[in-house]
Amino acid sequence: MMDSTSVRGVRIASFLLLVFISAAGTLAASDETAPARDPKQAVDEAYTAKIQKYTTAPYFTSPLVNYLPASKTVPTPETVLGDVAGAPGVLPYAEDVYKYMRLLEKASPRVKVFSIGTTEEGREMIAVAISSPENLKNLEENRARLTKLADPRTIKLDDAEADKLVAQAVPVYYITGTIHSPETGAPTALMELAYRLSVDESPYIREIRDGMITLITPVVEVDGRDRMVDIYKWHLAHPKDFYPPLIYWGKYVAHDNNRDAMGVTLKLTENVLNTYVKWKAQVLHDLHESVPYLYDNTVGDGPYNAWVDPILTDEWQMIGSRNVADMTKFGMPGVFTHGDFDTWSPGYLMFIAAMHNGISRLYETFGNGGADTQERTLDPEEYARTWWRQNPPLPKVLWSQRDNNNYEQTGLLTSLHYFNENKRLFLKNFYLKAKRSVAKPSAEGPAAYVLPADESRPSLQAELLHVLQKQAVEISRAKAGFTVALPVKKEKPKKDGKDKKDTKEAEKDKKPEPTSRDFPAGSYIVRMDQPYARIADALLDHQYWSPDDPQKTPYDDTGWTFGELFGVQVARVTDLKVLDVAMERVTEIHAPGGVKGDGAVFAINNAAEPALATLRYKLKDANVEAAEEPFESGGKKFNRGSFIIRNANRADLDRAAADVGLQAVAVGAAPSVKTHAIRAARVAFVHTWLSTQTEGWWRLALDDLKIPYDYISTQAIAKIDDLNAKYDVILFPPVGFFSSPTAIINGMPTAWGNPLPWKNTPETPNLAGKNDSTDDMRPGLGWDGFAKLQTFVQKGGVLLTATDTSRFATEIGLVTGVSAQTSERMKIVGSVVGTRLVDGASPIAYGYEEKVPAYCDNGPIFSLSSISGARGRRRLGNESRSRPTGRGTADEPDFTVGRPGVEAPEEPTSETWEAPPVTDEQRRNGFRVIPPADRARVIFRYADQKDLLISGLVAGGNEIAQHPAVVDVPSGKGHVVLFSINPVYRGETRGTYSMVLNTILNFDSLDAGRKLAEK
Ligand SMILES: [Zn+2]
Repeated sequence: MMDSTSVRGVRIASFLLLVFISAAGTLAASDETAPARDPKQAVDEAYTAKIQKYTTAPYFTSPLVNYLPASKTVPTPETVLGDVAGAPGVLPYAEDVYKYMRLLEKASPRVKVFSIGTTEEGREMIAVAISSPENLKNLEENRARLTKLADPRTIKLDDAEADKLVAQAVPVYYITGTIHSPETGAPTALMELAYRLSVDESPYIREIRDGMITLITPVVEVDGRDRMVDIYKWHLAHPKDFYPPLIYWGKYVAHDNNRDAMGVTLKLTENVLNTYVKWKAQVLHDLHESVPYLYDNTVGDGPYNAWVDPILTDEWQMIGSRNVADMTKFGMPGVFTHGDFDTWSPGYLMFIAAMHNGISRLYETFGNGGADTQERTLDPEEYARTWWRQNPPLPKVLWSQRDNNNYEQTGLLTSLHYFNENKRLFLKNFYLKAKRSVAKPSAEGPAAYVLPADESRPSLQAELLHVLQKQAVEISRAKAGFTVALPVKKEKPKKDGKDKKDTKEAEKDKKPEPTSRDFPAGSYIVRMDQPYARIADALLDHQYWSPDDPQKTPYDDTGWTFGELFGVQVARVTDLKVLDVAMERVTEIHAPGGVKGDGAVFAINNAAEPALATLRYKLKDANVEAAEEPFESGGKKFNRGSFIIRNANRADLDRAAADVGLQAVAVGAAPSVKTHAIRAARVAFVHTWLSTQTEGWWRLALDDLKIPYDYISTQAIAKIDDLNAKYDVILFPPVGFFSSPTAIINGMPTAWGNPLPWKNTPETPNLAGKNDSTDDMRPGLGWDGFAKLQTFVQKGGVLLTATDTSRFATEIGLVTGVSAQTSERMKIVGSVVGTRLVDGASPIAYGYEEKVPAYCDNGPIFSLSSISGARGRRRLGNESRSRPTGRGTADEPDFTVGRPGVEAPEEPTSETWEAPPVTDEQRRNGFRVIPPADRARVIFRYADQKDLLISGLVAGGNEIAQHPAVVDVPSGKGHVVLFSINPVYRGETRGTYSMVLNTILNFDSLDAGRKLAEK
């Protein structure tokens, strides 16, 4: 095999030309190994017969998988499954899959099983390496070679040295299965693949085995897999009944487990990431099942992620189109690689590879959500022939899990073979991508990101740095203060002379842009001349998705800038001098904390750090109060909401504060500002049985922060006699799918069908885990439950809702004076937007500054009214109110011919986020006028239109600009706090967590600092 890529490229090109000209009957070139079995090796006839029996059409298989080679020593998957891989009715638990992989390991020197960590519920995750015994024996030597290629600094960026390593190294191709639990085929496909790779003596397979290491994690979402198998078994035992939908996958989230590769908050992400990085793998290939029959979707569609190396996008094209070609030649229909998936967000599991100099791949194959063989009818657009899908899927077929396993294995085997044939090219690319990453500062930049030492939220800063550390990013700390030059902003050329005067005037007022910035000693520096600079850059940079982008349906979030969403300062530095600053690598990062100074009263500044809430719950018995006004003590400034702690044991406080990274200052005497008590509220956390994914991110956040809560379903509410006796705060986080107000009340249809139980039974031992359970998932909150919620608030409880549950609260009448609209035209698709502080005296806003970036995904558009029952209308803002058509210029009055002009009375005006002032007419017999103390209080609003977009896509943003983003609505003795933004999301929005935590901590003092309208 040639080493030089260019020479090889020429050879392939001329070879293709030759085939084309001669139109030879056979497509296999003399130097390409045919995908065919070894006629000398015996076939396992019984197993093979079953493969054929379960394959529903002759074209749903290939010469690679239509037989099983026999072995005298190595057990087939049938040993554990009792039938062949992909057999109808057979869905193994993770444990059974592992059992088989370990039997393989025992029987074959070509297989090694590694434990790679555990899940949230304590189940094991594994990785299975399959290669020649020699390769497996030399794993460490090989890892050393790959490590040098992965970090070119170790060989001084020496290409000649890299070529030597490339020639010797054995690449690693990492395959991951069933991250999405209802997509069930991968484990059995991967069991059989492992068998084939370890047993088959055909040259095609032998080359893969000898040439590379195939690494397999057969089950990524282990907790979810076991639940899914429970449900499937329940379905087999109750064939005439409807079976419960898989409402929980992992402990926290469902489908979004494949959106965690930025925040790395789930164990499965962390375990796969660590395995990928430790093995220095070249490929991460993740298996899914939601598209017929095989969509190799990494090529997909634009826009591609802006931070990946173009070398990678070329690799996608190479591998993807070759994969389609190989399977097309086998006559397998419905294999394609273009489609509607854009590769913009780096949140997908496979993107761990893209962001760590490897190759990310994702298969969508076709599955039945279980192992039943079923007739499947496709949508017209799924079977349409398009330019990128010349051999489309069929409109209607009988489909089996075996068909799925045939496609998955055939795709993987051809991919492995092609990868092995071109491994020198891919290994060299692996090195080049790392080298180009190290060269980033002087190539495309930036040189570094700096997180300054004078950060006002050190604990959040530390959390952001921890995310980067999980991503294997190196972090340094400046030993002394330093200065960097700031990039000079280019003046935009003036369009015409029209606004010259205004611009000149504006320029006169403007301060000159600073040309440099100073950073104190101890500032954190994320150097971009490191191999994994790419992921740091992608997370910390800003994103811009043009409203004019040809891609009109972004597949996922469009913006995620971590510094903005964590609410901490992150400076993008292009000045190369930053790399010469005296600095040291740091591995342990912890925000400084503990008690300073002398005195019996302690103060802790409130800078909206979530750790404050953790501390409050840790100090169960302490007397904690919040200052309602800012104060100074001992020369230190404290914000509103700062904690004042009395009667705490100093040593306990010191330990607790150090633990959470907060600085407590002992002061001589309590400051003379108004305070109120901060109590450890009793929290109920409500979920529906419709969907749990979106609330799962909230649960994860609260668990991480060690905030205790009772996890109850909407069904449970009606059954609790007195909610107020048990709880101070009820959190009702977003539901996500199926979340209309009527669905929340009614649940799923109960007028027909059978109960859908979600609980642990001998039949379904894994279903509930430690999550909630019910005899029947179908009933919703019900009107009794609604009445209970209403009473809870009336009697003084606090209900907190966000996005769709806020819409629920407004539409169902839990609040008065707030309406929530949706917009057809507005497109804010998972973006970072600007919000503005409206009422800094509200405890909900404690610790926040004027401008707060937040996550918005077409949030509800709130409008306020001081009239109860007023039809909710979106308000258009002052600028759109103009004079009617008539005489005169724009700012002159109109006239009425035949009578003297009448001046209209001066109407009071209001801001878009405020309720319009009550008019004289409304006050006539004004029983609908909401008394000032009962009116909604806006805490944050969305920024003006021009400042709305921070990262991602904002189109039609004028519809939500300036509208309320967080509203506190008094109701009876209690409050309903409505969020239009989603403050707790995917572990990425830690800067807005405190809006929720402040609400919890100040539950009985939310009216603090409230100013009432006069009438
Ligand atoms: Zn999937």
